[in-house]
Amino acid sequence: MSESIETLDFDPDALRDRYRRERDKRLRADGNQQYLEIAGEFAHYIDDPYVDRPIARAPLDDLTEVIVIGGGFGGLIAGARLRQAGVESLRIIEKGGDFGGTWYWNRYPGAACDTEAYIYLPLCEEVGYMPKAKYATAPEILEHSRRIARKFDLYRNACLQTEVNGVDWDDRESCWVVRTNRQDAMRARFLILCNGPLNRPKLPGIPGITEYRGHTFHTSRWDYAYTGGGPDGNLDRLADRRVAIIGTGATAVQCVPHLGAAAKELFVFQRTPSSVDVRDNRPTDPAWAASLEPGWQRARMENFNTLTSGGVIEEDLVKDGWTEIIRNLISMANFRGKNIDRAQVPKLMELADFRKMNQIRARVDSIVRDPRTAEALKPWYRQFCKRPCFHDDYLPTFNRPNVHLIDTEGRGVTRITADGVVANGIEYPVDCIIFASGFEVGTDFSRRAGYDVVGRDGLTLSGKWADGVRSLHGVFVHGFPNLMLMSNSQAAATTNFPHAMDEAARHMAYVVDRCREEQIATVEATREAEDAWVEEIISVSRFNEDFLASCTPGYYNNEGQPNRRSIQNGSYGKGPNPYFRRIREWREAGSMAGLECRRVSGQAFSAGAGTPS
Ligand code: NDP
Repeated sequence: MSESIETLDFDPDALRDRYRRERDKRLRADGNQQYLEIAGEFAHYIDDPYVDRPIARAPLDDLTEVIVIGGGFGGLIAGARLRQAGVESLRIIEKGGDFGGTWYWNRYPGAACDTEAYIYLPLCEEVGYMPKAKYATAPEILEHSRRIARKFDLYRNACLQTEVNGVDWDDRESCWVVRTNRQDAMRARFLILCNGPLNRPKLPGIPGITEYRGHTFHTSRWDYAYTGGGPDGNLDRLADRRVAIIGTGATAVQCVPHLGAAAKELFVFQRTPSSVDVRDNRPTDPAWAASLEPGWQRARMENFNTLTSGGVIEEDLVKDGWTEIIRNLISMANFRGKNIDRAQVPKLMELADFRKMNQIRARVDSIVRDPRTAEALKPWYRQFCKRPCFHDDYLPTFNRPNVHLIDTEGRGVTRITADGVVANGIEYPVDCIIFASGFEVGTDFSRRAGYDVVGRDGLTLSGKWADGVRSLHGVFVHGFPNLMLMSNSQAAATTNFPHAMDEAARHMAYVVDRCREEQIATVEATREAEDAWVEEIISVSRFNEDFLASCTPGYYNNEGQPNRRSIQNGSYGKGPNPYFRRIREWREAGSMAGLECRRVSGQAFSAGAGTPS
């Protein structure tokens, strides 16, 4: 059942042209500046709605071996790997009232993960948990976060409901001082920052946003007191309400079906349609689960990662919409495991992508009855220009008589008035506006973190990174001893985030372990090693630069303005597997190349050759 390029049933040039025209409609000069920072008069949008009883405790000024900032998946996985490395003196600081990060905050109706649960839920084998179904819901994922925290004893010494507002390096004591909104001045030998990539909600900078007199909230702080119902839906208090939702990204795709089922009227304001593929969730087969051999989760994660980052292997364990594009590629190239011409891969990938997106567009026609609405819901860009979505109820929602798609042809909502939302010159009066407008991505690290980091000699991370991120491996920063970052800047970007987090966590635990074993007091990237890594990040970025430039705007391509800084702040361009291999080989070499280490005596030594491998 193979197909060759000669038998294509579409015109690639016509599609390329259409994609370009659709992208051009959406380009805007203000890029990231179009969004409003949630601060000042908007600060209430990020209040914690889930804490019933604020914790009372005295300020802390104790010394811990490792402090991890952030109790989401990053912090949990780092905590687990540190515990496995024997670190007992460990504190996780978390702004929310519990562990979970993204899954603590995002409790909107229908919230779920559409990366397969067997590879997405971290540490399943370690904690002895098998997900209930192929795709996990937000409550299951939140509970799994707590399970990891319990299993690895991460509640011990944790500071929940605690927001960091400043971090300083104390060179005399060789430790970090972490200041918080609870007047803490805690000290730590090592500091690991796991703030998360999508931790700070943003609002659209729509004129008149402050004039609106109705009710509003952001999807990441769902107001169930207003809507009624819960994560499963049944939003019974909306029965007599007109609701607007602004945004049609992955979040909206999941909550719109529940809003459509409950609201008297629902207006969905769309700027760019999402690609929405089949989800086809199904319960876990107990016989299959019982048949799995130890090590299955890692093998499955690696298989998925290879396929979704363009690696060509015939076995596809996950077999979902993410890996399907590679299956297309294999069939188009008549691939038999050995004869593929690698030089042809980018072209074949594009053709496979066209075919995939034709399927996505055909799916809209097969579900949505009104032809104008169907046309407006079709995405015209390559699949991985934006986050692909997978849902079986989103498109059918537009067949409901109470649901109205307000497509703005790439222009977006033009105004918010006291009574409602204006688009295409028409005012839609509504009782409530829900912002499904996403999270800050292209803004400065310290703005997203909510604090700055002050390293040696008063050097701030915001100052150091004013012209772009500088790091070794995306983890270590020259001028910031004993600091490690978990981020996808200058590190791996993967479809399955927890995979990259686990690789980073192993790297960090290795370094902490080496320092303990060898009585190393401080460890810091050398300037030379950092410069070399930054150069490499920029030079290998060409692997996806052209692709990003041709994409419709969004947070994947710095809102349509990829530039040198955004490329420098981007991920390792050769892909996640080469990055994982790189840092694994660095560890295996054992020389801690590119890190300057100082022993407890204060004597400086380089544990390796001075440049990273
Ligand atoms: P996104 O940033 O993906 O979407 C924001 C939406 O708001 C876009 O549709 C955007 O349009 C729209 N928007 C912004 N400004 C305006 C305006 N002025 N007028 C009209 N529309 C506007 O945020 P999400 O919260 O949907 O998703 C963020 C990320 O969270 C996802 O990409 C994904 O990584 C993750 N996620 C994962 C899920 C999972 O299953 N694992 C589920 C949900 C989210 P435009 O596209 O034109 O910019």
